Amino acid sequence: MQPCQDIHVTLVFAGYLQDDTLTQAMANLNPQIEKLLVLQAREQKVRHLEQLLQTIPMDIKRLQAEIVGEEKTLAGFKARLRKMEVLRNDLDNRVGMAQEQILRYKNQQLQVKKNEEYQALIHEIEGLEKKILDWEEEEIGLMLEIDSETETYREQEAALASTTELIRGKIAVLENRGADLKNRLADASLRLQSADRGIDPAYLKAYRLLAARMKLPVVVGLEMQKCLGCHLRVSNETKEKARKGEALTTCHNCGRLVYFAS
Ligand SMILES: [Zn+2]
Repeated sequence: MQPCQDIHVTLVFAGYLQDDTLTQAMANLNPQIEKLLVLQAREQKVRHLEQLLQTIPMDIKRLQAEIVGEEKTLAGFKARLRKMEVLRNDLDNRVGMAQEQILRYKNQQLQVKKNEEYQALIHEIEGLEKKILDWEEEEIGLMLEIDSETETYREQEAALASTTELIRGKIAVLENRGADLKNRLADASLRLQSADRGIDPAYLKAYRLLAARMKLPVVVGLEMQKCLGCHLRVSNETKEKARKGEALTTCHNCGRLVYFAS
């Protein structure tokens, strides 16, 4: 693109100019300012692409953290289920052991001679039978809970699978976008490298100094006697200097280099 077209695009895009005011503005534009505007537009493009590119790894990280968060929730469910299964097995074992013990007591009953020994065994057996009933009741409650938790777990697992797929898709889009931005940035950087060629050193120095201490744009139009950088009104003298395209005309409010736009 030729410098003039570049400026056209920059100014119209930035809303600084309407197409119909462009011709008049271009006619009065100091050729050095014209070159600076090309440099500035290219530098802004590079900065913009860099900014866009910078957010991508953070966005990907945030999405990956979302997957990890979902997986943790599911792992929490699984751990709870496992704990309940352990508890259920434990109750099962206790019931089994108590039943074996009852059998042993019943065998002993056949061997004891004294009535009180026989009664003591009956007492032990009854105690165990009561415990077995309690444990079995507890186990039934636990099994119902396990059933409902398993169902919830399966629902969560399915939800996680679809969420993860969705997030992975978003990550892939971001990765593609990152690759595309990298290419565009390489291209824009290359164009920027050659943009300061042929610019008067005094203009270039002024531009660099301004760009080092404030955000671009540092070369701005004057529209209706207002600086489009700080949006404050400039003096008649500044406006006149800009209109004539005098060298290094600056806004006395913000210090930006100004040119006459309308
Ligand atoms: Zn200003």
